[in-house]
Amino acid sequence: MPARPSSPAPAPAPTPVSVLGLGMMGSALASAFLRAGHPVTVWNRSPAKTGPLVAQGALPAATPADAVAASPLVVLCLLTNDNVDEVLDGLDGGAVAGKTLVNLTNGTPEQARALSARATALGARYVDGGIMAVPQMIASPAAYVLYSGDEEAYETHRSTLAVLGGTRWTGTDPGLAALYDLGLLTGMYGMFTGVVQALALVRTENIGAEEYAELLVPWMTAMLGGVPEIARAVDSGSHLTDVSSLAVSQAAFPNFLSTFRAQGVSTELFEPFQALLDRAVEEGYAGDGASRMVELLIKR
Ligand code: NDP
Repeated sequence: MPARPSSPAPAPAPTPVSVLGLGMMGSALASAFLRAGHPVTVWNRSPAKTGPLVAQGALPAATPADAVAASPLVVLCLLTNDNVDEVLDGLDGGAVAGKTLVNLTNGTPEQARALSARATALGARYVDGGIMAVPQMIASPAAYVLYSGDEEAYETHRSTLAVLGGTRWTGTDPGLAALYDLGLLTGMYGMFTGVVQALALVRTENIGAEEYAELLVPWMTAMLGGVPEIARAVDSGSHLTDVSSLAVSQAAFPNFLSTFRAQGVSTELFEPFQALLDRAVEEGYAGDGASRMVELLIKR
């Protein structure tokens, strides 16, 4: 039977949303809710940042309490979770009762669990989130947000939250979105660690960084293709490899460190990797692939 074209998802009913925190990211979130037709109330510690959002149709709130009172759905996007705690400190006990707090501030799993417990004790429903986008990507198909915590609250507001980008549920443990988020950012920072080291190395011979990036990007992209195989080995616990063993990497790695030194480039980012390779071989894993290092890194 031919597949029937699916009808477009119905537009979500307008839901009042309050956005607390109008930095680069919070402003992008508030703007996306406005463009999707939701009534938006905004609060920011420095009131001047409400101006552009008010010009787009948002209502300014003078205090966090006024912002929380204005909407059933309250999105927080402050610099740190300490700031979120401070905002909660300043609210009357009952101010958040019955509200859904969606905290998209970057933080740790422990902070998310503590905030969830605090919000729940105040009678609110708590959803934590991790934004996988820069502000310019918000509301584009490339953006998505990881969520965890109160699943019923998440489902109630999912269609409204979906205007920010894709929605990805990670589980009822409120700390999971932060864990997924930090894991993805760990991959990103690891990648950038290699990028800055490689560019520093070639710059010592006056090779243009842009010119070199033309080689670096396809190389790194090709290497990323090996990640599913590493992941399969991690899940299966079978680390023997016929691709590239830890012994081969350990033998080659001193060439990197000595070349960095000879070229006048710091080794501070890469010495720990040499130490881990040395430990892997010492502990008897010379024939294993990179997946073995995952186990060696886990301390508990
Ligand atoms: P900004 O520095 O642009 O904005 C920080 C916001 O936090 C401002 O609204 C600021 O208020 C507020 N703030 C800081 N300290 C306090 C405080 N003590 N009390 C109340 N409010 C405070 O950061 P972003 O908007 O870029 O980032 C916000 C969050 O989003 C961060 O957790 C970040 O990690 C996360 N994020 C950001 C991404 C990005 O690409 N920008 C990507 C993914 C996540 P004020 O204006 O008064 O200083």
